[in-house]
Amino acid sequence: MRATRAVINLNILRDNLKAIKRYIGPTVSIALSIKANAYGHGAVAVAKTAEALGITTFGVSNTDEAVELRNAGIASRILLYSLPLPEEIPVLVNEGIECFVGDEKLIILFSSEARRQNTVSVLHLKVDTGMGRIGCSPENLPPLAEEVSKNKNLRLGGICTHFPASGSTDAYFTKKQIKIFNYWVGKVRDKGILPGVLHAANSDALLTVPESHMDMVRPGLLVYGYYPDGIADSVKKKVPVKPVMEFKTKVVFLKRVKAGTPISYGMIYKTKRETVITTLAAGYGDGYNRLLSNRGKVLIRGKLYPIVGRICMDQCMADLGPRSDVKLYDDAILFGRKGSGKAENPLDADDIARMTETIPYEVTLLITKRVPRVYIV
Ligand SMILES: *Cc1c(COP(=O)(O)O)cnc(C)c1O
Repeated sequence: MRATRAVINLNILRDNLKAIKRYIGPTVSIALSIKANAYGHGAVAVAKTAEALGITTFGVSNTDEAVELRNAGIASRILLYSLPLPEEIPVLVNEGIECFVGDEKLIILFSSEARRQNTVSVLHLKVDTGMGRIGCSPENLPPLAEEVSKNKNLRLGGICTHFPASGSTDAYFTKKQIKIFNYWVGKVRDKGILPGVLHAANSDALLTVPESHMDMVRPGLLVYGYYPDGIADSVKKKVPVKPVMEFKTKVVFLKRVKAGTPISYGMIYKTKRETVITTLAAGYGDGYNRLLSNRGKVLIRGKLYPIVGRICMDQCMADLGPRSDVKLYDDAILFGRKGSGKAENPLDADDIARMTETIPYEVTLLITKRVPRVYIV
């Protein structure tokens, strides 16, 4: 066993997915966002766990991520959320990946590649109703839908959009986007074209604006056990989720030092009294953010201790105080589940995010490749 590992509890992942399913009801399906290695949790393991619960659509953000899933035997529907380069199109068509497109150029490229491979490529038209990132303008949707639907090497798999606002603080903006979306999807229907699956909601909209659910929702963050900013407690109660990942390392060195002993690079920490300093086997090379220097906390034997001094690439130190019961090779939890149980860590990725001025998405997905993912099945 490696000292530093990310423990991924697939039972919690299942519970989170079930809670989301209960909330959205039986008529709405889920496209599970497993881009960026499932936000650091391991895309293949997450996909297989979700498939066993009947979730058969996954969202990725590049061609390699899609191919990794296919190579691991994932036969489910895979949506590509970001735009491919032209040279990636042959692989995408060959692997049956359903891509988001929002302009004629890309439609033509997919069409000619699908014709060359003598197959049908499924496309989802992305409409920009307010995100300002990718997608066609709403008025362009009907002509593009017509172009896809009349092409015998293409099929319109769906129409989708994305929300930039936090529904809890700006539901009005999100609802306005939905109105625009529905209006232009109506225009597509007026042309006698079936729009396919309609989808828009990320975790935030899923929780805060029910009319965003449409045919399918595309949650990521919520599935991994975190809520977007500003979600009301009453909503959290309706969709109870818990963090899936626990980031752990081990006590690998203990030393008793005198008052005034400098700890780590830059000597930004000096012990204030005689104390025991432990060295832990994790650093920023494992994804334990260097901004946690002199700021982070670690849980050992059910007690929180401060991370002291600069975090190094491979190691960091904590001050255990003069009378600690910590032993060599004890587990040390850097973040995990919040809860009352003794083994649970009062620090989760939300707290780490606050201390490092980012969002929990980045905290879990930046756990680096060298950290083994250990699965609790
Ligand atoms: C990442 C992503 C999502 C999921 O967002 P969460 O906030 O993690 O729920 C949904 N749709 C698209 C297009 C995305 O890129």
